[in-house]
Amino acid sequence: MVRETDVTTSHLVYPLFIEAGLHGRQPISSMPGQDRLGIGALKDEAKSLAALKVPAVLLFGLPAGKDEQGSGAWARDGIVQQSVACLKDANPELLVIGDVCLCEYTSHGHCGLLTPSGEVDNDRSLPLIAETAVSLAEAGCDIIAPSDMMDGRVAAIRAALDSGGFATTPILSYAAKFASAFYGPFREAADSAPAFGDRRGYQMDPANSRMAMDEVLTDLDEGADMVMVKPALPYLDVLRQVRDAVDVPVAAYNVSGEYSMIMAAIQNGWLDEARAIDETLTSIRRAGADIIITYHAKQFAARQ
Ligand SMILES: [Zn+2]
Repeated sequence: MVRETDVTTSHLVYPLFIEAGLHGRQPISSMPGQDRLGIGALKDEAKSLAALKVPAVLLFGLPAGKDEQGSGAWARDGIVQQSVACLKDANPELLVIGDVCLCEYTSHGHCGLLTPSGEVDNDRSLPLIAETAVSLAEAGCDIIAPSDMMDGRVAAIRAALDSGGFATTPILSYAAKFASAFYGPFREAADSAPAFGDRRGYQMDPANSRMAMDEVLTDLDEGADMVMVKPALPYLDVLRQVRDAVDVPVAAYNVSGEYSMIMAAIQNGWLDEARAIDETLTSIRRAGADIIITYHAKQFAARQ
């Protein structure tokens, strides 16, 4: 009754990796307990999320093919676009958040188009990012979550959604996204490691929290409805600063490496599963997150 901080399943978002052409489920070895799902596995997944009362999912797609532009990201029959209907059919209450980026769809694995010299071309990437957002809204996504970190992308997405008839579709921007070692397992999960170079040019230096605040305020200025801090655990101070500075809902992404670290220790008998997960999620809530995107969502929900 008098605890300051509560965590309930209603705070959690569960990420899903959906792979074109996959039959059933494929375990992700670096993320014990997590699978890539084929389209055919989504109905059961949606029902299991309903039974557990997990309210929301964040979708990542693994397309059948990749190209220089990442055209699978905005294809009408793209893997994520197809998945939304399957999930909603089986679980109409499920809130579906569409991640918007090109890196899972580009042959080079970068988040936008490249210049001839191999740099990410911010301005030429924006229309494609915006087109991806509209196609996800058309497919039925309830919230659009741009993770690409291009300058001006929230404004471009907001304008495209508005003119596409989705003026009320909210944007959850990955606003404070740090260049982190803890994304490692995700890249196996989503098959999205850059073929060369890295993403440090457009993700933030872990040492800089003031810059994170700038990004948050810029995204809100451009029309973001909610903002995200990513990763969560090494950036709880940033999460608190963001929470104190803004009035909109704040999300934290408890990323793949944070999950894998805890799961490895649990599997070795070094940590108690329930206590480690509860303490982790409580710390993220205490730091100010309204929404926690976490691979632990189903484990946590199963104990409620
Ligand atoms: Zn990306």
